[in-house]
Amino acid sequence: MESSKRTGLFWIGGALIIAALLAASLNWAVTLIPPTVETRWARKLPVFNDSECELPKDAAVALEKLRKRLLLPGDDEFSISLRIVRAREVNAFAFLGGSIYINTGLLKGAFNADEVAGVVAHEMAHVRNRDVLHSISGRLVTAILLAQIGETSGLANLFTQVANLTFTRSQEEAADRSAISRLQAAHIATQPLANFFKRLPSFGPTMLSDHPDSESRSQMAASAVVESPTPALSEDEWNALKTACAL
Ligand SMILES: [Zn+2]
Repeated sequence: MESSKRTGLFWIGGALIIAALLAASLNWAVTLIPPTVETRWARKLPVFNDSECELPKDAAVALEKLRKRLLLPGDDEFSISLRIVRAREVNAFAFLGGSIYINTGLLKGAFNADEVAGVVAHEMAHVRNRDVLHSISGRLVTAILLAQIGETSGLANLFTQVANLTFTRSQEEAADRSAISRLQAAHIATQPLANFFKRLPSFGPTMLSDHPDSESRSQMAASAVVESPTPALSEDEWNALKTACAL
């Protein structure tokens, strides 16, 4: 090989190694940001105010009951909150700062509260794993660097992109495993989540169907053992929640 080619390959290899190291250190660095700081940033972002639904009291009580049942020890510092947004897609997503947005389409498409509990448990895992922050870390650093030289539009755009984030296959698989553990700890049956996963393809091209193969997700949920399961919500609570926000 000519020496100029060798030198070229050397530099390309070096650049790739530096890029890989940077990516790895960014992933590590975001875990140093305390969840409370992330929550403070998120409060400054009025991204979903337009479509967020203000719940009547009975529905708000039902949603809070669902949230509390699904919490695990150690969740406190993540400020996990549940919000309902008016949107047709059968979906829910985690946002920065512990907010989990549940589309009205999910409440309509779910057969019962246990199915919604399973999806919420999956999103709670994304919060605990800091997946939103991990996914935007590269863009976040670029936007902050640009903001240093006075170009702040990058920061504004970045946060509007968060709602459309897709996570990696391994992030999704980890969130599914955590969701099952959460349901087990809450004594909520996992078969309804298995049924919901089976119907995912019929919901159209939502973010949920970008996740791992719905058949294997369904099997994993179906095979989990839950001791003495009880419904996530009573019939009245579920009715109050699902009819609370018309589209
Ligand atoms: Zn997910």
